[in-house]
Amino acid sequence: MSAIGIGFDAHRLAAGVPLRLAGLEWPDEPAGLVGHSDGDVVAHALCDAILAAAGLGDLGAVFGTADPVWAGASGVALLTEVVARVRVAGWSVVNATVQLIGNRPQLAARRSEAETVLGAAIAARVCVSATTTDGLGFTGKGEGVAAIATALLRWVPQSEGTGGG
Ligand SMILES: [Zn+2]
Repeated sequence: MSAIGIGFDAHRLAAGVPLRLAGLEWPDEPAGLVGHSDGDVVAHALCDAILAAAGLGDLGAVFGTADPVWAGASGVALLTEVVARVRVAGWSVVNATVQLIGNRPQLAARRSEAETVLGAAIAARVCVSATTTDGLGFTGKGEGVAAIATALLRWVPQSEGTGGG
């Protein structure tokens, strides 16, 4: 059986904060994302899409924003943990897509780099794209960035698994 999930995330940009986004460091960016972890909206949206497809809830439910263990955790570390948890439940990721919504950074030049890092974290193909909102709203005004993601998962019953049963 297959199942799809959707995830959305947004975080505030703050000047002078190092930017980590889409699993990459962006040392030339003037502002970074503020969050309980690293604020990587691309990784977080992917986490929620994968958890939703597996019926395991969302990031807040799984990790808890009050849990100090995950304070400052990288988005890629969260993504790796999410995939490990859905695997325990019998699911594997088929593919995922994620779209960054914001003015900065310019993702195009590093798109394949981001896809490689995120794809390695979930052990499946990830397609990363980006868009802007024509100057509208918090992403258009540069107050923050957002991301929306989908993921397709496949559930392999124990009897079909290699060495299962
Ligand atoms: Zn987040």
